[in-house]
Amino acid sequence: MKIEKFQVPEGKELNLADHPTDFTGDYSGKEEAVKDLKANIEKLSELQSVLYAEDVHSILIIFQAMDAAGKDGAIKHVMSGLNPQGTQVFSFKQPSREELDHGYLWRCSKALPERGRIGIFNRSYYEDVLVVRVHPQILQIQQLPDEIKNDPNIWQQRFQQIKNFEQYLSENGIHVLKFFLNVSKEEQKARFLSRINTPDKNWKFSSSDVRERGFWDDYMHAYREAISATSTADSPWFIIPADKKWFSRLAVSEIIVQKMSELNMRYPELNEIHRQDLADAKKLLESEE
Ligand code: ATP
Ligand code: MG
Repeated sequence: MKIEKFQVPEGKELNLADHPTDFTGDYSGKEEAVKDLKANIEKLSELQSVLYAEDVHSILIIFQAMDAAGKDGAIKHVMSGLNPQGTQVFSFKQPSREELDHGYLWRCSKALPERGRIGIFNRSYYEDVLVVRVHPQILQIQQLPDEIKNDPNIWQQRFQQIKNFEQYLSENGIHVLKFFLNVSKEEQKARFLSRINTPDKNWKFSSSDVRERGFWDDYMHAYREAISATSTADSPWFIIPADKKWFSRLAVSEIIVQKMSELNMRYPELNEIHRQDLADAKKLLESEE
């Protein structure tokens, strides 16, 4: 799969109309895609082993999307073959009082993956240029200096802060991959209705999701600007067609596999002392009766 199709080039205006939500590439149906997803999950598991053993890099995977776009399912499926010891998932909801007493990057910084690990953010600091931008009253109740809250350039400033933060991460071996699961407004409606009409899915439905849907165009504007401003070669954004869950999961897995493969990771090489150590241990074990 050519993943460049989904990657947002650095410095380019993003036009979401160029990214059909129902794209499924060369795949005509679910069956073939599920087979390839399974193969990718196996590759991912091998890549994770070497990531962990080498203990040099870490991977931060960020998921952002409108409600019901499939973040939870993508995380569950794509990460299903991984060793839980080397993986961590954090979901960022409305900030707590304690979190609000810090800058907006604080709670996410605390949750960064350590070397050798894969960290997943279900929502992230991008919420602070998305939901907070769509609902300016959220910003107004925060304890920020007035001249910052009321500066019309606040979003551009935050884009720059996020770029700087991500540059710091990548220059310290933490590789950031960002996924926007791009679902259509019609498909979201169908999924909400299914959550309402299926008793076992009722718990997933929240009437606030329908309220947020009313701000669809504002969200798309905020996503467009945030993604255009913060997609870089080192910390790229990918726009994932999300109307077909089987395709979005496959595309996400493919991108993670390809990007991790580019890191050219190796299992640590033994030095002379280690090698001698192994030979001695082998001798000792073999001499046991
Ligand atoms: P799910 O609905 O599948 O459980 P979710 O991520 O939508 O997952 P919710 O508890 O429904 O979880 O929603 C979390 C809400 O918190 C979202 O509406 C999100 O926009 C909001 N949120 C996240 N970060 C911030 C933030 N920094 N400031 C304000 N709201 C935020
Ligand atoms: Mg929700």
